[in-house]
Amino acid sequence: LQSKLPHVGTTIFTVMSGLANEHQALNLSQGFPGFDCDPALSELVAKYTRGGFNQYAPMTGVPPLRQALAAKAVSVFGLTYDPDTEVTVTSGATEALFAALTAVIRPGDEVLIFEPAYDSYAPAIELNGGIPVYITPEGPAYAIDWTAVAGKISSRTRAVIVNTPHNPTGYVWTQADLDALAALLKPLDAWVVSDEVYEHITFDSQPHLSPASHPDLKDRTFLCGSLGKTFHVTGWKIGFCLAPKALSAEFRKIHQYLTFSTVTPVQYALAEYLGNPEHYLTVAAFYQRKRDLFVQALEASAFRFVPSQGTFFQNVSYGHLSQENDYDLAVRLTKQIGVASIPVSVFYHRKDDHKQLRFCFAKDDTMLLEAAERLSRLSW
Ligand code: PMP
Ligand code: GLN
Repeated sequence: LQSKLPHVGTTIFTVMSGLANEHQALNLSQGFPGFDCDPALSELVAKYTRGGFNQYAPMTGVPPLRQALAAKAVSVFGLTYDPDTEVTVTSGATEALFAALTAVIRPGDEVLIFEPAYDSYAPAIELNGGIPVYITPEGPAYAIDWTAVAGKISSRTRAVIVNTPHNPTGYVWTQADLDALAALLKPLDAWVVSDEVYEHITFDSQPHLSPASHPDLKDRTFLCGSLGKTFHVTGWKIGFCLAPKALSAEFRKIHQYLTFSTVTPVQYALAEYLGNPEHYLTVAAFYQRKRDLFVQALEASAFRFVPSQGTFFQNVSYGHLSQENDYDLAVRLTKQIGVASIPVSVFYHRKDDHKQLRFCFAKDDTMLLEAAERLSRLSW
């Protein structure tokens, strides 16, 4: 069989988690919480499973979950979506992103990706015959260079993928970023596919701003999210897409034949759990405390870093200490000191090595402190 994705292998997340398990390392690589969800939420799944909610859900998602997602979008972010025609429940944000890109890309269309970038974007573009156009910073990225973006936009640009809060840098888009994007897209027939899986995880009172909150972008935006990050249930793979009616109609045609629908009892459980806003409004403070604990402990190490503004990832730099390739270093630290991380070069299509590692701090405090302690004892 001739591969349609010849350059794609096993994802780094699988590779590093595998290596971490093999060496019984503290696994700060793959992004998933090292603790369980609220028992009340698991109880709700049990309740709906026992209650007989075990057959196919409606294609668009169960009505209470669509209503709860619409209510959350308006109350937290001031974004109005009709739960019947503009909210679709998916099997994780991964499916939502794939379906949105499939809905808009035609062969030869260009799609802008900001690097470093999450790994599922480029394959989704390529499988649809699109061409990824990378905006690649010269050094480690902490903000967006809008002059560089302007240089990559053309009449062939069909979509821009936004990710805020950003994995892996933790960068959170500002109003100036939204304004800049809106101005660039104004003359174009182009869409925004916005990955907002960390929408509830921003720090230091910085607000999360969706492109959909910009009046010139709302009608062009597919807002893709996930409840996995918000409620510590990445294994449930429940995501969603919020988009204006005409866009949602096309999105649903793709979703209908990708998965048709997703897990029924879990949707009902999440709908009920979303009824208490405290469940999602407290997650930012929860992770900010973990970020602070981790970065304070890392102060004792020789790494350099800018504290993450959002997500549950912290990047660190070591270029002033060693010229070792980041992939080799991540593997070596896993084997030698039992601390697994992700080499940030994997988020660049040319594997640019800016001598950075990404650590996931969605872990128990003891594991974070132990990892920081081991990293501080490293001799370079
Ligand atoms: N986008 C980003 C930036 C992510 O970090 C992740 C999950 N790690 C996803 C998308 C995928 O989300 P889901 O698990 O809901 O498919
Ligand atoms: N998004 C998670 C991360 O960035 C991993 C998801 C996956 O394993 N595919 O670590």
